[in-house]
Amino acid sequence: MKIWIPIALLAACVIGYAVVAGGAPAGEKAPAGAADPAPAKPAAHPAYHAHSPPIGEKLMLSEDEWKKKLSPHQYRILRESGTEFAGTGKLLHNKEDGTYRCGGCGAPLFDSETKYTSGSGWPSFYAALEGRIVEKVDTSHGMVRTELLCARCGGHLGHKFSDGPKPTGQRYCINSASLEFQGEDGRVISGE
Ligand SMILES: [Zn+2]
Repeated sequence: MKIWIPIALLAACVIGYAVVAGGAPAGEKAPAGAADPAPAKPAAHPAYHAHSPPIGEKLMLSEDEWKKKLSPHQYRILRESGTEFAGTGKLLHNKEDGTYRCGGCGAPLFDSETKYTSGSGWPSFYAALEGRIVEKVDTSHGMVRTELLCARCGGHLGHKFSDGPKPTGQRYCINSASLEFQGEDGRVISGE
């Protein structure tokens, strides 16, 4: 109850009431944030389902809007198909359970269960969440590669190679700066 005294004082100051004590009856309203959270559900990686935009939905922003939304480093990678230096990504060694989302638009892309240590220096996955990634032939730098793009916002993520582990044999080689990670507790970490 002592906690509510400063709040009551503050409210009284803001509203301008002269009477502080004995004003509003205590205990009428439930204190904000005091309600017990619902028991944790047994579903694996609930972060995937939390606030996920539906598959097929598009996010179209102008280049100016992307520049405002992203840091210069993220913009260079996501919107100009850049590549971060190997071994530098913040999420490279992340081993927590959760969901990897697009750093540009927040769409879920990978489940932590499919992340593995490839030794390449970039976060690597052997599979992507269904319907979340678009593949495109990339002939830049004198190579023919499969470029990976976010299906929702078109952001550049990385490339796919066929030297991955079982069960798919694929390696989704992704820039950490193109990602954000959401743990099962809902906490989000930027991959930049
Ligand atoms: Zn995206």
